Amino acid sequence: MPDSSIKRCLELCALAHAQSGEDLTYSLTELRHELQMLAHEKSCSALPSSNPDLDSDALTAAPVISMDMAGYITDWNQGAQIMFGYSAKEAIGRHILFLYADIPEDQNNEIHELFLEHGSPLIEVRRRRKSGETFRANLALSHILGDANEAIGMVATLSEIADRLSTEEKQQLHARIIEDSDEGILITDTNELIVSVNSAFSCITGYSAREAIGQTPDLLRSGVHSTDFRAQVHAAMQGAGAWQGEIIGRRKNGELFPQSVSIGIVRNVDGMITHAYSIFSDISVLRATEKRMQEVVNYDSLTGLPNRSLFHQLVEQALATARRNNDHGALLVIDLNRFTSVNDSLGHDVGDELLRQVGQRFRSVLRDEDILARDGGDEFVVALVSIHKREHSGLVAEKLLAALDAPFVIESHALHIGASIGIATYPEDGLDTAALQRFADVAMKRIQANNESGYLFFSSEMNVRAKEQWQLEGELRHALSGQELRLHYQPKVSLRSGRIIGAEALIRWSHPEHGLTMPGEFVPLAEETSLILELGSWVIEEACRQIRVWMDAGLEPIPIAINLSARQFDDQLIDRLRGATERHKIPCELLKLEITESLLVCDSEKVILLMNELAAFGFTLALDDFGTGYSSLAYLKKFPISTLKIDRTFVTGVPGDENDCAIAQAIVTMGKQLRQEIVAEGVETHAQMAFLRDLGCDQLQGYLFSPPVPADVFGTMVREKRRLQLD
Ligand code: C2E
Ligand code: MG
Ligand code: MG
Repeated sequence: MPDSSIKRCLELCALAHAQSGEDLTYSLTELRHELQMLAHEKSCSALPSSNPDLDSDALTAAPVISMDMAGYITDWNQGAQIMFGYSAKEAIGRHILFLYADIPEDQNNEIHELFLEHGSPLIEVRRRRKSGETFRANLALSHILGDANEAIGMVATLSEIADRLSTEEKQQLHARIIEDSDEGILITDTNELIVSVNSAFSCITGYSAREAIGQTPDLLRSGVHSTDFRAQVHAAMQGAGAWQGEIIGRRKNGELFPQSVSIGIVRNVDGMITHAYSIFSDISVLRATEKRMQEVVNYDSLTGLPNRSLFHQLVEQALATARRNNDHGALLVIDLNRFTSVNDSLGHDVGDELLRQVGQRFRSVLRDEDILARDGGDEFVVALVSIHKREHSGLVAEKLLAALDAPFVIESHALHIGASIGIATYPEDGLDTAALQRFADVAMKRIQANNESGYLFFSSEMNVRAKEQWQLEGELRHALSGQELRLHYQPKVSLRSGRIIGAEALIRWSHPEHGLTMPGEFVPLAEETSLILELGSWVIEEACRQIRVWMDAGLEPIPIAINLSARQFDDQLIDRLRGATERHKIPCELLKLEITESLLVCDSEKVILLMNELAAFGFTLALDDFGTGYSSLAYLKKFPISTLKIDRTFVTGVPGDENDCAIAQAIVTMGKQLRQEIVAEGVETHAQMAFLRDLGCDQLQGYLFSPPVPADVFGTMVREKRRLQLD
């Protein structure tokens, strides 16, 4: 119907109402509706068909809806009636929005904007039928033009986008998907009775559909959950809101299984709950994998014992309990002695088996509540979580040592192995795992230095040392990577000619805060850690480099002695020394090695072999600080040592102190018998020099001639052929 007619009707009607004085509260919308109906009926009566509802053309006609510019429906054809289910009478006069499936936020703008934005091309929209069903349709809009060509309304032509599936097909498809799902699905009715289950349900729970239907979901109840928890799940099935979580269920065979569950409900058109459903998956495989991963993460694969990380967790928990109960505890660090040689000589398989068996023996002598772990390498740790007295942990250490007494028989080898055990006690030595372990470790290293099996408690004195060591270790590491270390050279002079015939390289640390720091302050600490190896390597390299510099400068070649720590005496020492001498192209004879007696008392067979090898390459060995250790003449004979250095403590007393004189004399006599060169160190006075020379000492090193000096100063002394005044 042309919109101009409606407009005209509206005007007339308004006039009529105004004239009759009837109720003017009659809303304009209602009025508009009435009038539009009137107009529509008129236009319909003009149609050729007598029964529009059955008109076959109209049935197939595309739905066309006309609106005024405000969006009120002005015309509604048969196609629209079929599509939406509303008769023209019901639709005309209402706002077009009543057909929308989704109501736009800004209702006023929508219609017109739609038009402006899209113009005539098709757009896809969602609409709602009278039945409530929503559907998708293509919509084309065009303007209705007035007499003066102005837009006075809009025409919407719709065509439904056919759903690809029929309702029946959809239902079948959904049923198939539910049936084939890997997740178990159970559906209950309002009485909480199971009405449907899928095959995955049967697979997971063991109950067939026949067994489950008619039962309540309690069929799967494990009995492990609290009433509270069950109430939550129950509430979800009653419509309290969707619920997701993990539940332990029970299978038909009684086995418990973890399941991940989602619970939801289904409502009918009136909003009433008709069904509840539960979709669940069996996550026991996942849990098993998680457990396996936990094992990998927490247990040592070789011994099956807890590893370091689990050990820390367990001990922290135990300490928390100990704190509450005011209990005592102890942490033992156990290091196997000479394990490395087993590994090196018999292979890693034997080494691994040894570690396994050691772990088993340790476990067998401990109580169940004691925590035993492997801390990597050949180190084990034990936490005694509740002991009455700290001495009791000593007893446990004894038991652990005794467990190693019997030989380990592996691949026909009977292996004897000992251990060093350090003990730190809680709460005396430390309050947390890390501190206790660190202090037990310090104690262990102490006892290990004696090279025999045993155990040692940590003490406060060790504590102080450990702390210093920590700090120093960091600083020294820094010093090694930077330019803070240097070598000073102390000349050795011949007691026959007074000429410089060698020097000892002594390390100095140019500490950024403390200035020039002497080796006594950091070498012993470096020796307790592996830093001594790096430090030692640096000294070897630097001494060789300096010798080459002097040689290149035309100085007469002078042997330089470097000090070697016992820990440097390993399999790599020869390679390290040879590497450095070759790199700097200096003869091995120019490098002397000063060692101390402590080296001679440990694993002497191995040391002798190494020393012989060193001597074969031309390196000469000097025994430093001689007289302070336990070396006997008979003992010394076994080692290829060419020089004895009489320790300064005996030099200080000569010639006044009779004892010192006697000792110095004995050393010189002994050295002469062994055809060793004798050097007296720390000579400060002429009297000392004269006495020692008369005894038969070959060389002198001491402040009397020169303190240790920087390389350039020493170079000058040699160049100037500086001599010691012997008379
Ligand atoms: P050492 O090898 O016995 O070195 C001799 C020490 O006596 C040096 O102390 C030296 O300065 C000092 N000395 C020399 N003549 C006299 C004297 O007439 N009177 C007095 N009172 N002292 C004298 P320094 O340089 O402090 O070295 C101490 C120790 O540190 C060395 O004893 C050595 O055992 C160790 N050391 C030094 N450098 C190194 C190194 O590069 N590596 C290793 N492993 N140890 C080193
Ligand atoms: Mg020395
Ligand atoms: Mg010395």
